[in-house]
Amino acid sequence: MSKVRVRFAPSPTGPLHLGGVRTALYDYLFAKNQGGEFILRIEDTDTARYVEGAEEYIQEALEWCGIIPDESPKHGGNYGPYRQSERRDIYDRHLVGLLKTDFAYLAFDTPEELDEVRNEFEKNGEVFAYNYITRNRLKNSLTISKEEVQKLLNEGSPYVVRFKMPVDRTLVLEDIIRGTSSVNTNTLDDKVLVKNDGMPTYHFANVVDDHEMKITHVIRGEEWLPSLGLHYLLYEAMGWERPEFAHLSLILKPEGKGKLSKRDGDKFGFPVFPLNFKDPESGNVSKGYREEGYLPEAFINMVALLGWSPANDREVLTLEEMIAEFDLHKVHKAGARFNKEKAEWFNSEYLRAKSDEEVLELLKKAEGITLENSSDAQLLKIISLMKERATFVRDIYTEGIFFFEAPTQYEEKAVKKAWNEAAVEVMSEFSLKLQDSVFEPLTLKQDIHDFAESKGLGMGKVMMPLRLCLVGELKGPDVPDIMQILGKEETIARIKNAVNNIQ
Ligand code: GLU
Repeated sequence: MSKVRVRFAPSPTGPLHLGGVRTALYDYLFAKNQGGEFILRIEDTDTARYVEGAEEYIQEALEWCGIIPDESPKHGGNYGPYRQSERRDIYDRHLVGLLKTDFAYLAFDTPEELDEVRNEFEKNGEVFAYNYITRNRLKNSLTISKEEVQKLLNEGSPYVVRFKMPVDRTLVLEDIIRGTSSVNTNTLDDKVLVKNDGMPTYHFANVVDDHEMKITHVIRGEEWLPSLGLHYLLYEAMGWERPEFAHLSLILKPEGKGKLSKRDGDKFGFPVFPLNFKDPESGNVSKGYREEGYLPEAFINMVALLGWSPANDREVLTLEEMIAEFDLHKVHKAGARFNKEKAEWFNSEYLRAKSDEEVLELLKKAEGITLENSSDAQLLKIISLMKERATFVRDIYTEGIFFFEAPTQYEEKAVKKAWNEAAVEVMSEFSLKLQDSVFEPLTLKQDIHDFAESKGLGMGKVMMPLRLCLVGELKGPDVPDIMQILGKEETIARIKNAVNNIQ
C-alpha cells in the first residue's frame, strides 16, 4: 500500500474553531498512527470570503497545539504549492482534460437569467436546481450549437464550468466511520466547478489537489458528506483512484440541540477558538484557549476526546499516546457534546502533573501577575501548596493572593464565625508567644497545639482566628504552611493588624 498521506484543508475565512482543531488533530493522529504524513493545505479560492490574517492564525494555532505539518505553505514540501490560489495552472491543466469527457459543460446563463428561472420556480412553489432536468432549457454548451458556443467565447461572454451529473445512477458511498450509504444522482445538482473568473470552486480544486498531493485518506467534517457523491464522480471522470473518506460528526452545544457556536461560548463563558482572534473588520477580539490559560497538552487532550474513546476509557493521554492509540473505527458516529467543566478538569490534571519548577516558569510568564517581591524558593513552596487546588496556572496567584499581599479586608461571614473578644485576646497573646518560635511547619503546628492546650482551648479556637488574620477569610492550605511561607515577622504583623482592625 502507498504511504498514508492525510491533509487538513481549511479555508482562511476566519479563525479555526474547536471543530476545525479536532479535524486537524484527527488528521494528524491518524497519519502519524499509520506512519504517514500530515499536510496542511490552504483552500483560498473563494476570494470573497478571504479573511486577512486567518492563514497565519491557522498555522500558529496548529503549532500551539503541537500539530506540526510535514508539508505546508510555511514548511514547503514535494507537492507544493500548498495554497490553492498558487495552483491555478494545475487546475487549468486538469480542466482541459475534464472538458474532453462527458462530465462537464460550459454554462453561459447570466445571474439575471438564473434569477428569473428561480423566481418562476418559486412562484409554483418549487425549488430551482441546475440539474439533469433544467439544464436542457438553460443556456449552456449542451443546448446551444458548437458554433454559438465558439461565438460566445470569442466575444468574451462570461461562463462557468458545471459538472454534468449523470442521470439516475445509484452511487454506493463508503465512509470509514459511518459505513455504507447510497445516493441517487437525480437528487444532486450540476455543481459549478470553475467560476466565471477562471477560479476553481472548492469541489474541483479539492479533488485535483487530493489527487496531485497523493492523499490517501480524507478526514473532514460531516458538512461535506452531501458532496461525497459529486467527489466520487469527479474521481471517476478524471480516471483517478479515490482516497478513503471519513466524516466527523458535529461538536454539540453544552445543552440542548445543535452545533456548538460562538454564542454558546459567550453564554457559558468558554472560548470556541484555540487562540485569541482579532476580527480585522470590526476589531472585536474573540477569546482563545491559550489566552484563557489552558495548557496546550490539556487542550488537545480535551479536543481529542470529543468524539473518540481510547481503549479502556482512558482519558488523560499525551500526544504520543494518542498517536499510538488512535483508531478511526473508534470515532463516534453521534455528535460529541462539549463540556466546559471537563475542559477545566483536563487543565487541572495536566497542571498537577507538572513539576513545581515547570509551573514556576509558567507562572512567571502569566499575564497580570506581580511576583517581584517573592523569591523563587518561596514561589516554589507556594506552588507546591496551591497546585492541587488550581485549575489554571494563574489560580496559584489569585487563589493564593494572601501569600503576596496582606489582607486589607476580612470576609464578613468568616469574621462572624471566627472572631469575637475572646479571639482578640487569644490572638494577641499568641502573637507574643510566636516571637520565640523557630517557625518550621512541624514545630509551628506543635506551638499552636501547645498554646491552645495551655489556654484550655480546642485547636479550632486558635486555628480559625489565626487563619482569618493571615488570609482574610477561612480558606487556603494548612495554617502552619502559610505561616512558614509568610515568615515570623509578617505573621506577627498580620495578627496585630487584624487585632487592631477587625470590628
Ligand atoms: N476547505 C474545506 C473546509 O474548510 C475543506 C473540506 C475538506 O476537507 O475537504 O471545510
